[in-house]
Amino acid sequence: MRFGRAQKDSHIGDADRGKIQQATKTTRLSVFNKITELFGTDAINTDLWEELEEALIGADVGVKTSFEILDRLKAKKPKTRSEMKEALRNSLIEILESVDDTAGKLWGDDELNLNLKMVNSPAVVLVVGVNGSGKTTVIGRLASLYIKEGYRVMAAAGDTYRAAAIDQLQAWATAVGFDVIAQQSGADPAAVAFDAINAGKARLYDLIIIDTAGRLQNKTSLMDELAKIKRVITRQINREPDEVLLVIDSTTGQNGLMQAEVFAKEAGVTSIALSKLDGAGRGGIAFAIAQEYGLPVKFVGVGEHADDLIPFIPESFVDALLLDRED
Ligand code: GDP
Repeated sequence: MRFGRAQKDSHIGDADRGKIQQATKTTRLSVFNKITELFGTDAINTDLWEELEEALIGADVGVKTSFEILDRLKAKKPKTRSEMKEALRNSLIEILESVDDTAGKLWGDDELNLNLKMVNSPAVVLVVGVNGSGKTTVIGRLASLYIKEGYRVMAAAGDTYRAAAIDQLQAWATAVGFDVIAQQSGADPAAVAFDAINAGKARLYDLIIIDTAGRLQNKTSLMDELAKIKRVITRQINREPDEVLLVIDSTTGQNGLMQAEVFAKEAGVTSIALSKLDGAGRGGIAFAIAQEYGLPVKFVGVGEHADDLIPFIPESFVDALLLDRED
């Protein structure tokens, strides 16, 4: 089965486009409308460049990334404000598309690049992120998406520190209809991963999604634990996990960026799911994540329902942010 860009686009139909527009409304009203308002009259002057710089930084795009956007924009030599708006749109899309998203394989550019349907070897996605970022929710929804595509999906309750995390995953499993491998709380998460892959191989599952703990306050032991889980997975399937998916709560703004840095450096993250885009005016961090860490955003969470996880399409995202003023 292939999921090229076009199919990814068809995956986001009008309903999803509406959801992206709705979910980005707060980001748009709080900051991006200031940007669109800048294009209201026609002459381009120094003030405009400065105001744009300020607005981008204020939109959580990040200082470095805002300068990169302005450089790209200036290189396009727009002559009127409407040309400038179009050039800004293109620069924002370029930043998001500049990421080599074949590095992350989930919903890759040319195909669904998980090693699905390999004999005796399920595809494995390791889901990481701080507590409360939305990992369990992403796992439940991801499982639902793949089940709808006809795959056999199992999840592993690798956050063994919180009994509630195991229960929550079980609740999603019951609601969506997938199996969960769990041990009692306090068990070794690497052992849970080991069990899940063994069970997955024996029972011919296509995809195993592994939850992990998110105690960033004890960074060293968390990173050691993630490394151990990855080693166990690699030994079991003779390759690295197909994806290490980092879930970032987009309402955390710059703090979310710091998490991206830590997990990207130390846990070998390959892709991002940006949760709670509907929650606060912080959607701008998608640009900084792409530009500063070279990580592709693959999904956005736009609400609390099972079908509120949407494939991330740079063009639809930017167009939603730059919609004209509304109330
Ligand atoms: P975890 O600790 O990383 O597993 O985080 P959870 O999956 O338990 O999510 C934490 C809270 O955020 C829950 O109350 C979820 O319902 C909520 N949540 C997750 N994703 C979204 C989203 O996209 N939008 C909204 N509004 N809430 C979300």
